[in-house]
Amino acid sequence: MKMQAFTVENIPLIRKGDDVASIICQRADIEDNDIIVIASTIIAKAEGRVFRLEDIIAGDKAEKIADKHCLDPRFIQAVLDRSREVLVEHPILLVETLNGHVCIKAGIDDSNVDMGYFADLPEDADHSARTIGEKIEKLTGKKISIILTDTNGRAFKTGQTGIAIGVYKIHPIKNWKGKKDLFGNKLEITEEAIADEIAGAANLLMGEGDGGYPVVILRGLGMRSDEASIKEMYRNDREDIIKKGLRCLNKV
Ligand code: GDP
Ligand code: MN
Ligand code: MN
Repeated sequence: MKMQAFTVENIPLIRKGDDVASIICQRADIEDNDIIVIASTIIAKAEGRVFRLEDIIAGDKAEKIADKHCLDPRFIQAVLDRSREVLVEHPILLVETLNGHVCIKAGIDDSNVDMGYFADLPEDADHSARTIGEKIEKLTGKKISIILTDTNGRAFKTGQTGIAIGVYKIHPIKNWKGKKDLFGNKLEITEEAIADEIAGAANLLMGEGDGGYPVVILRGLGMRSDEASIKEMYRNDREDIIKKGLRCLNKV
C-alpha cells in the first residue's frame, strides 16, 4: 500500500475573483483519481468572503456574549450572523454554522489574511468544491476529487487538526459495516471518516503559518466516487447526543 502527498508550489497570495482551479492547473500535473485538498482560507479570499469589523454593527446578544469573552462585540455579531445555533456561549463559542458545520466562532479566522481583515468559511463548501472540481476536470481532462479543509480543535483533546468542510466526488465516510476483521468477525459499527483523515494528512504539509501551501495533492488512494456531500458525515439532530447534552447545559 502506498500513497503520495505533495504541495503545489508557488501559489500566489489569493485575491477576490482569482480562479483557484486555473491557478492549481498551471502549477501541477494533475492525474486521474488525484485528491486535491484546498485550505478554506484561499477559497474565502477568492470568493471575497473577507470582512472588517468596521462594517458590522453589534446587537444586544453579541454585546452580552462579547463581555464574557472580552472580545469585540462586532466580531461576535459576525459569528452569530453565520450561525444557525449557538451550542456553547462561554468559555468557548461553539456554533453550528448555516452550512451545518459545528466549530468554534463559525470558523472565522484572521490568520493568513490582510491585517484588519477576517476570512469566513465558504457559504456552501460543497458548492465551492464542485465549482473548482468541475473546472479542473474541464481544464485537464482528468477525473479528480476535491476536499476543502479548515483547521479545527476536537472535543476532549488539546491540539488542532485539518478537517474536511466540503467535498467533490469523494464520500466523506467509508462504511466498513458488514466487512470482516482478521478473525472473520463482521464489523458492525465502523464508519471511517476518510475526508477528515485526508484533510489531516494534507494539513501536515500545509502547516498553519507562512508556508504558503494552501493546496496539497494526494495520489494513490483511488477513492473517487459519484456525487458526494460533506453533509453525509453530519449527524442528524435526533441522533446527536452531544448536541442534546449541550442544549441541556445551556438551560441550567
Ligand atoms: P485554514 O486551515 O484554511 O484556516 O488555512 P491556514 O490559514 O491554516 O493556511 C493553510 C496554508 O495555506 C498555510 O501554509 C498558509 O501559509 C497557506 N496560505 C493561506 N493563504 C494563502 C494564500 O493566499 N496564498 C498562498 N500561497 N498560501 C496561503
Ligand atoms: Mn481557518
Ligand atoms: Mn490551517
